[in-house]
Amino acid sequence: MRKKIVAGNWKMNKTLQEGVELAKTVNRQVEDTDVVVILCTPFIHLAEVSKAITKDSLFLGAQNCASETSGAFTGEVSVDMIKSTGAEYVIIGHSERRSYYHEDDALLNKKTKLALAAGLTPIFCCGEVLAERQSGKHMQVVKSQIENGLFDLSAEDFGKVVLAYEPVWAIGTGVNATADQAQEMHKAIRDLVSEKYGTRVAENTSILYGGSCKPSNAKELFSNPDVDGGLIGGASLSAADFMGIVSAF
Ligand code: PEP
Repeated sequence: MRKKIVAGNWKMNKTLQEGVELAKTVNRQVEDTDVVVILCTPFIHLAEVSKAITKDSLFLGAQNCASETSGAFTGEVSVDMIKSTGAEYVIIGHSERRSYYHEDDALLNKKTKLALAAGLTPIFCCGEVLAERQSGKHMQVVKSQIENGLFDLSAEDFGKVVLAYEPVWAIGTGVNATADQAQEMHKAIRDLVSEKYGTRVAENTSILYGGSCKPSNAKELFSNPDVDGGLIGGASLSAADFMGIVSAF
């Protein structure tokens, strides 16, 4: 059975001390249920936040990784470095990386493979911008991001990836996709995975929704059959909001 997951993406927020405090609060409040809760912190927080995590259902993740394994790449952080902090997940292909840092499908494919080789679980993001949805191209855009980013993986490796559908127009805007829009896309993604890797892999793949998810809309979004949880930006910066979303399951 696929996992239910709520992952917080702190982005470039919180000092180290603030981040550790937030992690401690979440750690205190998280219950050992079947919901996997993940904190994706800035790189410099990882090692300290790792020490604050004591609950079995709480995990640590990074928000990005280098596309090389080691060497003269000033300012970069490798998958092995991430893994060595105790992190088990890494977000790959967030729309902010795709747009501000021009990360393309080929680069994201490389990062995904490095993450898998290091034993990290990639949380691979996809999603269309507003103009693409308005012109009816959203399905095609997401399909091509997934095909180009992931479909040369073996079934075994693909089975280790978590997908996150994040319509760019919903990220940080306060305007979330409706439950129907989310379900329609998630079902299309699962069908795509099923065509490529078969029903068993597709049924076991967790597909998260991201984009202005909050305690007030999480229940409706997560109650869709193909929505397996959320990737949470703004609302993950407050323990109360984040835990409100976790408890929507
Ligand atoms: C995100 O950036 O992954 C995200 C979903 O942000 P927000 O929840 O703030 O829309």
